[in-house]
Amino acid sequence: MKAIPYGRQNITEEDIQAVIETLQSDYLTQGPKIAEFEAAFAEYVGCKYAVAVSNGTGALHLCTIALDVKEGDKVITTPITFAASANCIRYCGGEVVFSDIDSKTYLLDIDKVRVLLESSPKGTYKGVIPVDFAGRAVDLEAFRQLADEYDLWIIEDSCHAPGGAFQDASNLDQFCGNGQFADLAIFSFHPVKHIASGEGGMITTNNEILYKKLLQLRTHGIVKNDDLYTNSIEFAGGIEQYPGWYMEMQSLGFNYRLTDFQAALGLSQLNRADEGLIKRKQIAETYFKSFKDKSFIKGQSGVVNGHAYHLYIIEVQDRLGLYNHLRKNNIFAQIHYIPCHLMPYYKELGWKEGDMPNAENYYKHCISLPIFPTLTNEEQNFVIESVKAFYNE
Ligand SMILES: *Cc1c(COP(=O)(O)O)cnc(C)c1O
Repeated sequence: MKAIPYGRQNITEEDIQAVIETLQSDYLTQGPKIAEFEAAFAEYVGCKYAVAVSNGTGALHLCTIALDVKEGDKVITTPITFAASANCIRYCGGEVVFSDIDSKTYLLDIDKVRVLLESSPKGTYKGVIPVDFAGRAVDLEAFRQLADEYDLWIIEDSCHAPGGAFQDASNLDQFCGNGQFADLAIFSFHPVKHIASGEGGMITTNNEILYKKLLQLRTHGIVKNDDLYTNSIEFAGGIEQYPGWYMEMQSLGFNYRLTDFQAALGLSQLNRADEGLIKRKQIAETYFKSFKDKSFIKGQSGVVNGHAYHLYIIEVQDRLGLYNHLRKNNIFAQIHYIPCHLMPYYKELGWKEGDMPNAENYYKHCISLPIFPTLTNEEQNFVIESVKAFYNE
């Protein structure tokens, strides 16, 4: 059996053709594919505006700038996430305040966030970054209510959940990143994610002001619009109107642009996103049934409506033994995640073992099994049999 990774991209002939067509066109970057990808993605998640960027981390960074995170601003997030969800606060000099997960859903526990907010004067915290971890959506409607009470903004880190739905919102037609509850939501198109563009990211929102800020920040803070210039026509070198070459840099932006050939790949992948979701759900159901009631299982993410199944996680006894056994069988399971607050960088900032007991206990037992649309039944059965064999079941 060839190696089975925990996640893998699926590049089809169609995808390849889409990229080739763009490579042969007039634009490698800043061409028509960006706008097409943005419009299609906005429609997919059901939001008003989408901004394509060079990766998910850049998306998070632009969000914290657009929301005006400043030196010392306190922002709450989960310790069970990829470090970028927290790091984006640090990029702006803000203070990361981790809050523990719910042991059943592995998501940021809203009750603990409430306790945190209640224990300090209003205004202490500026925002919250919940993560749709593993593809399971947080109850963002409830987070919105809480955020409104305490005047917080919300960035939804939805890197794991394109196509996922808010299970606890009034209906399942509310998709992650739809802009109904979060001020801004972000996605990644890294190859292990649902939609791959090599590197790539997207920010979605219903807020027009933030949208315009993001467009500007994505490309050096440059404005090219006669109505918005602050220098005079005379200064610009024009007579009665601004000359054709004129532009202004009005804020400190970056180059976080996506290329057109990446957008073409993302767009082509997006066309198959729903197929991928169906396949992921089938794989999750098969795992769930196979491990239900097994004595070695301490927990598994189960089959949940609206779950986008970026990851399939089980909690087991002797996790190290299982991990090594699977590797011997050429199965590359993964651990998501080493708690972020215990990364040496965050320990240096004062976080320590014991601060997040649920996250730390989860980390002792969790393991992510292979799940991706091209995983064959034969491969999945091999994974299942290998897990069972390790526990003599
Ligand atoms: C992948 C990921 C990111 C970062 O995305 P990149 O495109 O790799 O920069 C951020 N948050 C989460 C939860 C992720 O899984």
